[in-house]
Amino acid sequence: MYIASENIIKSGKVTDVYFERALEVIENKGIDKNVKAEVVVKGLPDEYSWAVFCGLEEVLELLENRPLNVRAIPEGSIFGENDPVLEIEGKYSEFAVFETAILGFLSQESGVATKAARIKKIAGTKPVLSFGARRMHPAIAPAIERAAYIGGCDGFSTVVAGEMMNIKPSGTMPHSLILLAGDTLKAAVSFDETVESAVPRIVLIDTFSDEKFESLRVAEALGKRLNGIRLDTPSSRRGNMRKILEELRWELDMRGFSYVQLFVSGGLNEDSVREIVDIADGFGVGTSVSSATTIDFSMDIVEIDSKPIAKKGKNSGSKSFMRCKKCFESRIVPFTTSEMDCTNGHTMEDILEYVIKNGKMLNGKTAVEDIRNRCLKEIRYVD
Ligand SMILES: [Zn+2]
Repeated sequence: MYIASENIIKSGKVTDVYFERALEVIENKGIDKNVKAEVVVKGLPDEYSWAVFCGLEEVLELLENRPLNVRAIPEGSIFGENDPVLEIEGKYSEFAVFETAILGFLSQESGVATKAARIKKIAGTKPVLSFGARRMHPAIAPAIERAAYIGGCDGFSTVVAGEMMNIKPSGTMPHSLILLAGDTLKAAVSFDETVESAVPRIVLIDTFSDEKFESLRVAEALGKRLNGIRLDTPSSRRGNMRKILEELRWELDMRGFSYVQLFVSGGLNEDSVREIVDIADGFGVGTSVSSATTIDFSMDIVEIDSKPIAKKGKNSGSKSFMRCKKCFESRIVPFTTSEMDCTNGHTMEDILEYVIKNGKMLNGKTAVEDIRNRCLKEIRYVD
């Protein structure tokens, strides 16, 4: 399979060949130097004004146990264009070959987390589940699910990701089960009789017949055991999803099934979630999250031998990313260890903190729940 294993990534082989050639020259001419390099995004996609920082855990695994100092903003933080999110300090030769992998981890995972966060912001308290791993290379399914979860998805479908994060995966039932059972109601009853009781009974009702009549059949048969129904109607048969949902809600309520939740999946994105957010009770998001546009990070040298230097178009020098925890005001300033006040007079702190010193991780891994909670808290401050 065309997969770079963890060991291959750590060996530095997932690199652009020009780094190898540059290192050959650097060694041959004896010009290796102590540098500081920072990672920023110069432009966010789709006119976004903010993004979610994700992928740091893997980057740190790549960089630890090397003679380097690393500063980073916490994973799950909100940042904007030209905000330094990571700074690596050490001999250039110690990390040059990892630039490709570092940017890859951060760009893709931040892209997924950012899209998940944008959709979760629209969905509010209603659950959003990540169902889109199937559209991406299976080798990175766990990374995609983790990023989607950090961005605010309330769950994800992939079993291996659940094992890695110690979180139960979520899901309903596939169309194949209904087709093999030969009838929606038969499939629903068989599912109810078979699957462990902790799993919510959410029945897919769009396989054979009309959504309304199938929902009512299932609701009447399962009664209070039915948690919800899922619509995954193909766009060619969909008509107006909002009107279908309104009709379903009316008919279910009319017969005392107001507890039955309406769960929608299939091609959902920010716009389509916004259109039905008041009437649907939950969302399964696919490709829009799993194949989200990447956040195109770059890495640039900003200091050599403690002197500020950078290529044209780039601010030189080590920086501090000051942020007010009360009003969320941000300011990028030359590196400082002192606090400063935001325009409202609160204390701002540098969120670009040391995470590795001389190759040693300063703190253990941050729990994924804590990273997700940080993201959910911070997206409240941005539009
Ligand atoms: Zn403030």
